[in-house]
Amino acid sequence: MDPVDALDVERLYTDEERMIRDTVREFVRERVMPEIDDWFERAHFPKEVIPELGKLGLLGMHLHGYGCAGTNAVSYGIACMELEVGDSGMRSAISVQGSLSMWPIFTYGSEEQKQEWLPRMASGEVVGCFGLTEPDFGSDPAGMRTFARRDGSDWILSGTKTWITNGGIADVAIVWARTDEGIRGFIVPRETPGFSTSDIERKLSLRASVTSELSFDDCRLPDDAMLPGARGLKGPLSVLDEARFGIVWGSMGAARSCYETALEYAKSRVAFGKPIAGFQLTQRKLVEMLLELAKGTLLALHLGRMKDEGRLEPEQVSMGKLNNVRAALEIAREARSILGANGITLEYPISRHMNNLESVFTYEGTNEIHTLILGQAVTGLPAFK
Ligand SMILES: Cc1cc2nc3c(=O)[nH]c(=O)nc-3n(C[C@H](O)[C@H](O)[C@H](O)COP(=O)(O)OP(=O)(O)OC[C@H]3O[C@@H](n4cnc5c(N)ncnc54)[C@H](O)[C@@H]3O)c2cc1C
Repeated sequence: MDPVDALDVERLYTDEERMIRDTVREFVRERVMPEIDDWFERAHFPKEVIPELGKLGLLGMHLHGYGCAGTNAVSYGIACMELEVGDSGMRSAISVQGSLSMWPIFTYGSEEQKQEWLPRMASGEVVGCFGLTEPDFGSDPAGMRTFARRDGSDWILSGTKTWITNGGIADVAIVWARTDEGIRGFIVPRETPGFSTSDIERKLSLRASVTSELSFDDCRLPDDAMLPGARGLKGPLSVLDEARFGIVWGSMGAARSCYETALEYAKSRVAFGKPIAGFQLTQRKLVEMLLELAKGTLLALHLGRMKDEGRLEPEQVSMGKLNNVRAALEIAREARSILGANGITLEYPISRHMNNLESVFTYEGTNEIHTLILGQAVTGLPAFK
């Protein structure tokens, strides 16, 4: 039995999926691992990595046409998992670019919008971000205050978005705003007068990722800045659903890194005259971690296959996000305990992953919100209010 892929899940990958796994794994080993501790410590996201991810075909990779790689959803999931073995910030970068920024243009945009933005975003020449959360409205985006009003054929956009991944480095923002005709999505180029950003400092989680506030001070946008196909809150919620799918996979990547590190450490660290892996209590920890890792990876693959068959429902994505991020956090905490004092340093990836996973637990729908989504799905009774 493989001590990491104990259920031989990777045997269920196709040859092409295995090739993508190997490509991303190598990128993480060669490009991310040598630098990630330094990026994390300095709270630095290397923007130059985005075109490199584009070159590998990972940006908007499961979209078809417009310079995108056109893979299946499982391949996208595998890429998310392998990147998050490196760091959740790396996986967040492709989630935000491909799922949160390119996908809404691909799904709800006009042909002109797709032609204008998608090829440059697929190559990484243009960086996108997704603005839904506001200072007073996170879990409940229906309350948003950002407003776009008509002025002739133009729109005037005003408001503030916060906690926006890649906001400070983005060339374009997909911004969700209230209008007289309900919530609509807008493509807002960085150079739009009145659009400014400021980065959120002193984060203790996702440090190798830029998180920013976006301000819109009477930004004038042409009529064709609006995404014609997205109407109401279901527009941004469908986008989030798309990105959550990547998290179902990615979280298992962070978990795998923690488990593998703890396993190796336990075999060589000696206490009371023998390797700590030889103690029953340590073995129990490792086995519990292995069980959750194996189940979570299998769940991710199952949801991926359902997505590729076109029958994955949003509630099922919620099941994956709720289960896998929670499991990944538990694995990270258990792994941390196996490393003892060493577990709290940047010498090992565990505390970094553990801190990152606190953000992953919260963004794209908190643990509680996914519980409520599933609670409603099984009882028919909404308990949000
Ligand atoms: C690093 C990072 C990156 C992010 N990137 C983006 C991004 O790119 N774009 C974007 O738009 N947003 C982004 N977010 C924002 C994220 O989506 C929100 O933080 C999230 O939706 C939760 O909102 P909140 O933080 O305002 O918490 P709140 O909504 O204030 O919730 C606080 C707590 O109350 C709980 N709660 C709320 N309502 C209920 C209820 N009805 N019943 C029970 N409990 C409830 C929540 O689950 C949570 O535990 C990011 C956040 C982080 C941390």
